[in-house]
Amino acid sequence: MTRRARPQPCRWCGRDVADTGIGRRRQYCRQSCRQRAYEQRAATQGALPADAVVLSAAEAAELSDRVYRVRCAAEDVVTALDEGAQTAELRELCDALMRAVKAADGWR
Ligand SMILES: [Zn+2]
Repeated sequence: MTRRARPQPCRWCGRDVADTGIGRRRQYCRQSCRQRAYEQRAATQGALPADAVVLSAAEAAELSDRVYRVRCAAEDVVTALDEGAQTAELRELCDALMRAVKAADGWR
């Protein structure tokens, strides 16, 4: 079984960058991400590797929170399975897990 390849993450926000299939691969999901990355590179020039992803403490804490909510939602699924939950309940927990995963996608 082959898994879908992870689309390239935007170098600013980490969300998927659509592959147009033509020309050079885009590095940013939208123009505003490209602009923000350019400004950050200009502001931190020489202090950090050019491809560094710099998050503020608040952004890093929020990312950590979003990932933690994914972990909790996944643990809920495991617990429900261990306790012999019915399909309808598992379906709801999987929906909650998917919502948490979608909210966690991206660095900011
Ligand atoms: Zn982006």
